[in-house]
Amino acid sequence: MSKVNLGIIGGGQLGSMLSTAAKKLNIKTIIYCDDIDAPAQNFCDEFILGEYNNKEKIDEFINKVNVITFEFENIPYETLNEISKKKLVLPKPSINRIIQHRLSEKDFINNLNIRTTRYASVEKKSDLETLKEFIPGILKTSTMGYDGKGQYPLRNIEDIEKINIDFSKEYIIEKLVKLKKEISVIITRFGNNNYEIYEPIENIHEDQILKYSKIPAEISENIFNQSKEWAIMIAEELRYIGTLCIEFFIDRNDNLYVNEIAPRVHNSGHLTINAFNISQFENHIRAVCSLEKIPIKKLSNAKMINLIGNQIKPYRENLKLNDNEFFFDYLKKEIKDKRKMGHITVLT
Ligand code: ADP
Ligand code: MG
Repeated sequence: MSKVNLGIIGGGQLGSMLSTAAKKLNIKTIIYCDDIDAPAQNFCDEFILGEYNNKEKIDEFINKVNVITFEFENIPYETLNEISKKKLVLPKPSINRIIQHRLSEKDFINNLNIRTTRYASVEKKSDLETLKEFIPGILKTSTMGYDGKGQYPLRNIEDIEKINIDFSKEYIIEKLVKLKKEISVIITRFGNNNYEIYEPIENIHEDQILKYSKIPAEISENIFNQSKEWAIMIAEELRYIGTLCIEFFIDRNDNLYVNEIAPRVHNSGHLTINAFNISQFENHIRAVCSLEKIPIKKLSNAKMINLIGNQIKPYRENLKLNDNEFFFDYLKKEIKDKRKMGHITVLT
């Protein structure tokens, strides 16, 4: 096999874990990122520092690789699209255009007759006066949000008056779902009706940031099947190539909703590294590099715990792990509040 050079845009922990998986497959990784402190530098074969609008730097990157993928979905669509005129980009940039905007993302999902939260576009504060049926709800920036950033809960009508946000950006308001549980389904699609799908993963958030994930998810057989079916429908409709994650809400009446689509590997799938024969990362690499698809097999049940901010410290200082525990340090230079610094997976 001739050696494949895989380009990855983005240098966070997902880029690191993709690089590690690629190494195992004898694939060289070249990462392009605008962050001089990008932690994935510690894991990839080559690192190119550049802004996402630096055409020269991007050309240098393009010329070094055979195929390009990305580890975060908020790379400007224009950049991805320009790159794709010169080199194969997987998944396709047109998918990002849909998913980068919460409104078009939710419209796309609803058009497949798949349930989402109720939502409406908000362009100015006065729009909220006519959208009281969405309260209690959450006002969210339509683009660029992650880990709960850019979200403003509106508990009651009075809260509308209290919000002080920049309406030069676009927003949507979403009706609050009375959550019983959150789950995610990760699927890697290789081509038409050709995919590997992981079982639903149960997720617990704290402060809108993922804290715990575990398999098996404690859910009904109905929800187990429905969530997988919807994930397959979405991946097929997008003609997606690579690993995709669908986040779901389950309400107190056991209704299932799609919350959002992540067109990339996902934090909730970190446990697949230790709990399956093939991780979500390896599967992504296999799909975008046209390698063989191997049936996935669960090796163990598992629980993943995110280490956020200072929680990493005791693990860095005094690493005592049992045989069934695996610690991952993302090697981020600076510890920050609410920043994902590492994780532990426990096989159960
Ligand atoms: P992000 O892009 O930051 O991941 P999400 O829309 O997934 O944004 O929101 C983060 C978390 O906030 C969700 O996983 C959920 O716990 C909570 N949340 C968001 N929207 C709603 C909603 N409409 N109803 C109930 N909880 C919500
Ligand atoms: Mg989310």
